[in-house]
Amino acid sequence: MSTVNGGISFWYAQEGAPAPREPLPGDTAADVCVVGGGYTGLWTAYYLKKAVPFLNITVLEAKFCGYGASGRNGGWLYNGIAGRDRYAKLHGHEAAVRLQQAMNATVTEVLDVCDAEKIDADQHRGGVLEVALSPAQLARLKAFHAAELAFGETDRELYGARETAGRVRVAGAVGSSWTPHGARLHPVKLVQGLAAAVEALGVTIHESTPVTEIKPKHAITPYGTVRAPYVLRCTEGFTASLTGQRRTWLPMNSSMIATEPLTDAQWESIGWDGRETLGDMAHAYMYAQRTADGRIALGGRGVPYRFGSKTDNDGRTQPQTVEALREILIRFFPQLAGVRIDHAWSGVLGVPRDWCATVTLDRSTGLGWAGGYVGSGVATANLAARTLRDLIKEDSGQSGPTDLTALPWVNHKVRKWEPEPLRWLGVQTMYAAFRGADRRETTGRTAATDRVAVLANRLSGR
Ligand SMILES: Cc1cc2nc3c(=O)[nH]c(=O)nc-3n(C[C@H](O)[C@H](O)[C@H](O)COP(=O)(O)OP(=O)(O)OC[C@H]3O[C@@H](n4cnc5c(N)ncnc54)[C@H](O)[C@@H]3O)c2cc1C
Repeated sequence: MSTVNGGISFWYAQEGAPAPREPLPGDTAADVCVVGGGYTGLWTAYYLKKAVPFLNITVLEAKFCGYGASGRNGGWLYNGIAGRDRYAKLHGHEAAVRLQQAMNATVTEVLDVCDAEKIDADQHRGGVLEVALSPAQLARLKAFHAAELAFGETDRELYGARETAGRVRVAGAVGSSWTPHGARLHPVKLVQGLAAAVEALGVTIHESTPVTEIKPKHAITPYGTVRAPYVLRCTEGFTASLTGQRRTWLPMNSSMIATEPLTDAQWESIGWDGRETLGDMAHAYMYAQRTADGRIALGGRGVPYRFGSKTDNDGRTQPQTVEALREILIRFFPQLAGVRIDHAWSGVLGVPRDWCATVTLDRSTGLGWAGGYVGSGVATANLAARTLRDLIKEDSGQSGPTDLTALPWVNHKVRKWEPEPLRWLGVQTMYAAFRGADRRETTGRTAATDRVAVLANRLSGR
């Protein structure tokens, strides 16, 4: 059997396409209009409606809920947030520690809501294991581990080669860092469960309804306009397609493969009984999970960016990317050399110019947005949603500031990306530099991070 490429994602191949919801029937009014039916939009609708049940909330989704990254991701529900270190520089260490603690709590919050709403998303809290496969990766791992401890993660553990193999037998792993603040889940089961929970609360969701332009108090679609005091842009990697947003967040590709179900003997040779989400310390890093039905789903960067901020062809990815991901799989687990790759797919994530996730409510216009999560949005979208809820409650006089509205990523401003072809050239050069650096580090003996990667990080603003 050959590899299925695209079809949105493997997760949809398992779950089947969702039953479509009705498009917007014409002009209408709401108290809050949410644009985008991924985790950010749906969690925001969920928390707002729970907090203020009389609110009339409309979600407008271009395709169907979970069409974007929320239906395609690696299922790492974990406590990483893009930009924390920069926020520490801008607002001080203590502010960044509060942000980190909020992220740690967010992992638990998502799992608790899944329990409360009876969302079975194959969630399993096994933590996150990040492995090092070269002296340079090990040096970075130790520095990363120390930094996480400094941001208050006292329950993180550092392992040598033998302890790492006791969890997952990754060929050539020389050490790892493990945190309990992570869980594996099935992305589509989460997004579909969430959409159903939101609808059950009384939120209106219109699908097949692309918003062409967002203006203060207006979300404009080909079928009509929704007028609302608050319009929230929750479109992450697709943001560039909205009028006026072309250079706001760069749509970065991430691609994944899923193996056939492995045999008991194969699992015996690998270990991974704890179902930790698994990553490495490469510059062009990989991420993986052991799925509930016994496969490995593994992702990485592939072709990073399409010219002109183009986004999507329903998840199809390039054959060379599928091969590159298969090579990573075999490097990690050589005994899987003959294993079948059942599915390959890709999606886009939103990258701001300074690589910092943000959540914003502009009080003068009622426009809000959240995103720019880079590759860490499964948990972050939930924190963003609860923060948008608090910002709207504060703005509408229903409550005062809260711990969440005081976090340093709130109302952060960032400049736009460069116009093309600079944008395309910059991203291609950066990832070529990362791949070259990873190759040199893998074959080299030095513990120093490759200088080209250091330079690429600096130039890219990462
Ligand atoms: C392959 C891949 C793997 C990833 N793995 C992980 C991971 O393991 N862990 C992690 O933390 N993060 C991961 N991420 C990132 C994470 O999935 C995202 O950050 C998160 O899902 C973002 O959710 P969102 O709702 O903001 O955006 P999306 O899920 O992209 O939702 C945006 C929605 O808006 C809709 N939309 C777009 N334009 C319009 C418009 N004009 N009008 C109306 N609707 C519109 C889209 O159809 C889409 O449904 C991964 C991303 C990808 C692509």
